[in-house]
Amino acid sequence: MSETFVQGGTIAAIATAVVPQQGSVGIVRVSGAEAIAIARTLFHAPGKQQWESHRILYGYVRHPQTHDVVDEALLLMMQAPRSYTREDVVEFHCHGGIMPVQQVLQLCLEAGAKLAQPGEFTLRAFLNGRLDLTQAESISDLVGAKSPQAAQSALAGLQGKLQKPIRSLRTTCLDILAEIEARIDFEEDLPPLDEADIIAQIEQILAETTKILATAAQGELLRTGLKVAIVGRPNVGKSSLLNAWSRSDRAIVTDLPGTTRDVVESTLVVGGIPVQVLDTAGIRDTADVVEKIGVERSRDAAQAADLVLLTIDAQAGWTPADGEIYEQVQHRPLILVVNKVDLVGEIPKFSLPDTIHRVVPTAAAHNHGIDALEEAILDAVHTSNLKAADLDLAINQRQAAALTRAKTSLEQVLATITDQLPLDFWTIDLRGAIQALGEITGEEVTESVLDRIFSRFCIGK
Ligand code: GDP
Repeated sequence: MSETFVQGGTIAAIATAVVPQQGSVGIVRVSGAEAIAIARTLFHAPGKQQWESHRILYGYVRHPQTHDVVDEALLLMMQAPRSYTREDVVEFHCHGGIMPVQQVLQLCLEAGAKLAQPGEFTLRAFLNGRLDLTQAESISDLVGAKSPQAAQSALAGLQGKLQKPIRSLRTTCLDILAEIEARIDFEEDLPPLDEADIIAQIEQILAETTKILATAAQGELLRTGLKVAIVGRPNVGKSSLLNAWSRSDRAIVTDLPGTTRDVVESTLVVGGIPVQVLDTAGIRDTADVVEKIGVERSRDAAQAADLVLLTIDAQAGWTPADGEIYEQVQHRPLILVVNKVDLVGEIPKFSLPDTIHRVVPTAAAHNHGIDALEEAILDAVHTSNLKAADLDLAINQRQAAALTRAKTSLEQVLATITDQLPLDFWTIDLRGAIQALGEITGEEVTESVLDRIFSRFCIGK
């Protein structure tokens, strides 16, 4: 895709979601040297409207030869460099749905534009220096955000909250490198190297690196969400629990079609963390005895889950069948939900496996206990060292990998200094750290890395 850019050219794509019979507006975006010429061939703006940058024109998109009107639309023209890509950009704001935008896109392609690759607009913005790589990745995160907090964290990245500290660490490394290299080249003319100072500076960078790295788990949680499996015997109240949970105030529910026929998935938001709930209650009462108590289904759901809610019936207590399910899921972080507590006066003291630490009583049918359940989930998440507290910074896996490489290189520099190795050796690892930090912001990046990052974007972004 970046090759496409190197070849230049004008690109076009539908920038909005294309859904039949839905969406009141659909946008076709065109970027490149020919964008405005293409707009002029296709768009007819009646009256005395001026074709000026950053102004909206009202009119019709017409077939350039037949003059058949394809849509009534608005046209927004943004001349370089004041545009998303820093190239000339035009946007046709058409009617929504499928036909108007597709026909307008088709006309743009016939007029000489190429269909944009996924992320190609943002790639151009990056290559033209409008965004660094951390900001480009934040845009993709923002589009894919599944909770307000995830969106907020992405926005912070877009505003440069990650770019700034990484750039500053890299600059410090470059300064140290310059100091050392000067000693290699002109040793006699300069005062001796202040070793203690260099060590202190590197230790400072390492401390900062460790701090930023610690946000990776949180970043992952905000990006992908927490997968929670509700498991348990039939009729203990798993579906009721999910229903009660989905109805509670804090929950934002998006129903997703289950990925397997036995599991229903819903997405909720708990304490800012997107939570994907895998409910195994879908299928029941097969002839198979093992399947009947839900053992296999529970095992499969737990396999995919970050956290398991093992649900039991308060009246029945801890039964051998519950124990059998527990066997299958106990390798995962787990909360025991004792449901139907309304049916028992007081929660009876069961003898539970002593590996179970978190127990939450609920009466799902009466919407009781959901708050406590959410608290227990957040507590479990915190304990596993994942928290959604500082939303200013949350790095992704690629950034974490590069930062870890930078850290290793810097630790190596310290070891080299301690071992009193010649200055040439110091610079090798320092360069490694500089390279790794540069990969995060995109100051040093290969085409294959760019392809990997931008191919994950949607088309038109
Ligand atoms: P599942 O098979 O585990 O999904 O269980 P369901 O959610 O379908 O519930 C089984 C039965 O237990 C239904 O008749 C529910 O109304 C009932 N039930 C669920 N939760 C409670 C509860 O907290 N208290 C009482 N009394 N009944 C409940």
